Amino acid sequence: MLKTSAEYLESIRDGRTLYLADERVEDATRHPAFRGMARTWGALYDLKRSGELRDVMSYEEAGERYSMHFLRPRSREDLIRRTRAHEVIADFGCGVLGRSPDAGAGSVTGMTMKPEVLDQKGGHKDHLLKIWQQLRHEDEFLVYAILPPQGGRDPKFYEGSGRQVPALRVTKETDAGVVLNGMKMLATNAAFASQIMIGNILPLAPDQLKESVTAIIPPNLKGMSLWARESFERRGDSEFDHPFTARYDESDCMLVFKDVFVPWERVFVHDNPELARAVLTQTPAHVMANHQSGVRFRSKLRFLLGLASLVTQSTGARDVPVVRETLGRFAAAEAAFSAMIDGQHMACHEIEHGYMLYNRRYMYAALHWAMENHSVLLDQIRELMGGGMFQMPASVSVTNNAELKALFEQYWTTPKESAIDRMKLFKLAWDLIGSEWASRATSYEKFFVGPAFSVRNYNFLHCPWDRYQESVRDFMNRY
Ligand SMILES: Cc1cc2nc3c(=O)[nH]c(=O)nc-3n(C[C@H](O)[C@H](O)[C@H](O)COP(=O)(O)OP(=O)(O)OC[C@H]3O[C@@H](n4cnc5c(N)ncnc54)[C@H](O)[C@@H]3O)c2cc1C
Repeated sequence: MLKTSAEYLESIRDGRTLYLADERVEDATRHPAFRGMARTWGALYDLKRSGELRDVMSYEEAGERYSMHFLRPRSREDLIRRTRAHEVIADFGCGVLGRSPDAGAGSVTGMTMKPEVLDQKGGHKDHLLKIWQQLRHEDEFLVYAILPPQGGRDPKFYEGSGRQVPALRVTKETDAGVVLNGMKMLATNAAFASQIMIGNILPLAPDQLKESVTAIIPPNLKGMSLWARESFERRGDSEFDHPFTARYDESDCMLVFKDVFVPWERVFVHDNPELARAVLTQTPAHVMANHQSGVRFRSKLRFLLGLASLVTQSTGARDVPVVRETLGRFAAAEAAFSAMIDGQHMACHEIEHGYMLYNRRYMYAALHWAMENHSVLLDQIRELMGGGMFQMPASVSVTNNAELKALFEQYWTTPKESAIDRMKLFKLAWDLIGSEWASRATSYEKFFVGPAFSVRNYNFLHCPWDRYQESVRDFMNRY
């Protein structure tokens, strides 16, 4: 079943406890700090169903239609179909929407491609497979929070203090399920999602048994609350002045659990610290979810390239040789990054059960490149903009005053561009590069998959060092 925008928006009006500071947000789809983003996600649900995109964005199985991000690929063509669907979603969001519905779905779909990882103590393969069927059938928007809170890393602080380490843990078990207490970091889009996965991407110590719980739950469970960070959307009163802030502020929430009961059917890892991480890293989950991240970043790179070109055209500097050289460098970077994405299906490989998987090493290399270069690119575009943004009036509302409007049009218009078009372009550029929303996006690009050292570690772990050492030894043996 493919949800309509209206059905999606209705599905998230579920009475969840969402806080924005001390305010309880009753309905994110109507609240000024969230509604722009909610409408954007709603529009995506309609786009997926639209006539010309239907076969790109969904597939049919046993007479039912499902979103493409639930497809379990059995050929290179299937992988490319998935990539194409990610790309449509990424382009829809100009590459700035990190945790779109295809991200979380990719992760769980990847787990179900190697569910036997769960065939050990504390693993519940049958629960995972059933949950996935439901996610797929209901076209659910799944996000995840798979890190402990930063504040809970010093267990000594808590010893004998009467306080509990704030990392989420199972505090009670019954025949019907588990009771959870603590916090989980950091669920982007939790305010807009219909399901949330909690889990552990960082290794747990053997004694962190009770923290090793992985489950997929609706956000409206009794005792569960979502604590949203400051909203930028609330300030983005005009789409003209702040196009991204107004409609693309994904929001990030800490998840707080106070005696939250979760039935066993929703739990698929329990009391097994090693398995808690393995279900994410030893199944295709990490590759499937992060291939989407690379496709999404490629769309962003292309958008940034278009922006750099338009901005330099507008300032009149585009044909200055040194500026062309900068743009040429951007173009080379975008093309090289694109090759890293396409290379993931060119060098795909078959895995268990006849499934096909994107090339893991190329995927990690692309993540690393994006993480290292995003800020540098933004800084270069900022440089190309010069002081252009600061020549613009505070808001488009300047045109509400006839006298000011006439002056604005007289002095700000250039031979190639009207005053209002210039203002629109520079407002967009500033929102993407210099605003508070942009600053959060910069942190996102640095951290969404984990800190830099962990991304390098993934690259280290999957490198075939023996093979490369062998070629050096072989050469040395020749003389
Ligand atoms: C905007 C945003 C959105 C996010 N969305 C999600 C989401 O949807 N789901 C989710 O689960 N998580 C999400 N995250 C969380 C993200 O996964 C974490 O922020 C990330 O893993 C880093 O962990 P941390 O914040 O605890 O930083 P830390 O682990 O505390 O690291 C901070 C810095 O400390 C240094 N450091 C710490 N430990 C070491 C070490 N061992 N060796 C060397 N240096 C070290 C490094 O400089 C590192 O950059 C999001 C984060 C951001 C910023």
